[in-house]
Amino acid sequence: MRFDIVTIFPEFFGGPPNNGILGHGILERALRIGQAEAHTHDLRSFTYDRHRTVDDRPFGGGEGMVLKAQPIFECVESLGIAPKAERDTTRESVILLSAQGKRFTQATARHLAKLDRVVLICGRYEGVDERVSQLLCDDELSIGDYVLSGGELGAAVIVDAVVRLLPGVLGHADSSKYESFGEGDEPTDTMTEDGVPRSTHGSGGLLDYPHYTRPSEFRGTTIPEVLGNGDHSVIRKWRRQAALAKTLANRPDLLPSADLNDNDRAFLNKLGFNRKH
Ligand code: SAM
Repeated sequence: MRFDIVTIFPEFFGGPPNNGILGHGILERALRIGQAEAHTHDLRSFTYDRHRTVDDRPFGGGEGMVLKAQPIFECVESLGIAPKAERDTTRESVILLSAQGKRFTQATARHLAKLDRVVLICGRYEGVDERVSQLLCDDELSIGDYVLSGGELGAAVIVDAVVRLLPGVLGHADSSKYESFGEGDEPTDTMTEDGVPRSTHGSGGLLDYPHYTRPSEFRGTTIPEVLGNGDHSVIRKWRRQAALAKTLANRPDLLPSADLNDNDRAFLNKLGFNRKH
């Protein structure tokens, strides 16, 4: 899979080895071994004036400057991407990072991970000439309900979230499946008859369960006893309940669409889920 990032700050992204966001960890490895490609494109290379101007004042007045349409169009067109009307969006997508965009979620990441190519356009200043969204982009994506000073952090978030879903990038094939916001085939196809997940992981649309490592006692807090007793059925049950409790505490909005069975609901009722929601 190939990413093209259009930005006035290409150096922000770096690359393997040990440089910037693309030069570290899982991303660095995925790029180094060729499971993903990421190319940055300097918007200022598509300007024609001495000052390499990419922004201009907005029509109608108002605060600040806006990124012009022309350098962005010429940059994207130079990448060999089909014009919007002819684009096969099951293979490639052009996306504008925008606080006004649809919310980027794990489901969006799973969708993008199926494509061959994604172009990410990073806005700056007060935003981007609207014709970029209207005539060039397939989607506008926001990484959250807050305003950043540029789209680069959003592009980095999207590249990271998508690349770790690509086949072969994570060491264990199921690692991404059973994380927080995972697609969650539990409890339907991985539950035992007594309603305990077969997987040792959380998921099912829930947040991940809490993890602990050695030492078993740290600064006066001991790990839950059940995790040390070696009984994997009991551990799985504890993990499921811990994931339910964590989701209820931090993200109760996820519970109505989570894949819950009767045991899960009974456990949540005990925690007061029905009373609160
Ligand atoms: N005037 C815009 C507004 O109120 O929606 C904010 C522009 S922001 C200062 C500059 C650029 O940062 C945007 O064009 C976009 O590319 C990026 N950006 C800001 N917040 C973002 C978010 N939550 N998600 C993705 N990109 C964001």
